[in-house]
Amino acid sequence: MNAIIFGAPGSGKGTYSSRLQAQLGLEVISMGDIFREILKKDTKLGKKVKSYVEKGLLVPNDIVIDVLKQRLSEIPSGKGFLLDGYPRTVDQARSLEKIVKIDVIILLLVPDWIIIERLSTRRICRNCGAVYNTRFLKPKNQGVCDKCGGPLYQRPDDTEEVIKKRIQIYEEQTQPIVKLFKRKQIPFVEAHCETLDAPPDNIVKEIIKDLQKLQLA
Ligand code: ADP
Ligand code: ZN
Repeated sequence: MNAIIFGAPGSGKGTYSSRLQAQLGLEVISMGDIFREILKKDTKLGKKVKSYVEKGLLVPNDIVIDVLKQRLSEIPSGKGFLLDGYPRTVDQARSLEKIVKIDVIILLLVPDWIIIERLSTRRICRNCGAVYNTRFLKPKNQGVCDKCGGPLYQRPDDTEEVIKKRIQIYEEQTQPIVKLFKRKQIPFVEAHCETLDAPPDNIVKEIIKDLQKLQLA
């Protein structure tokens, strides 16, 4: 099964992706992660990618397509993938159609208030990157990482104002792509998260049930 997953920042996309990866044996292709790896390298490509990612700009399409093709070619035959962070534009969606068949789109639907509540209470370890939450996933000692003892901090873009802006940008980017895929009659699985403390496992179960109905899992 080849799938694309769409979800706003703070929708839990990373959590669901890794569980779907484990339970369905898919390869997760995260464009953001791939670019963060590439920019660490002291190569021509690394430098170029860095200049875009650091400014928060989209990497130009010709590079994105090459990188994606390369990554897709590494997937063992018979194994499916879950694409995260691609496509981000209608152009990218059109290019994708030409290189690979997409069986299903997984769309995470999370109300804005839940995203705001989750992200504004998120705290991250400066040392190891572990993620905490001041309400649901408190560290044993306030402000201190359980795993490594490092200091916890709040990302500067995890404030209500900026979160609202990020959700708006996500919606503006994603709506036209979703419309395009619906017009192409690609099946959608919609995962709804209605409460702040909905266990991720339940939502993953729902997604898998819907995929089974489509005979994709
Ligand atoms: P964010 O949600 O902060 O944009 P991502 O991890 O999805 O985080 O992506 C990080 C960066 O990688 C983006 O800001 C962009 O520069 C680059 N990138 C990711 N996906 C794409 C894509 N599909 N097309 C172009 N650039 C991309
Ligand atoms: Zn830590």
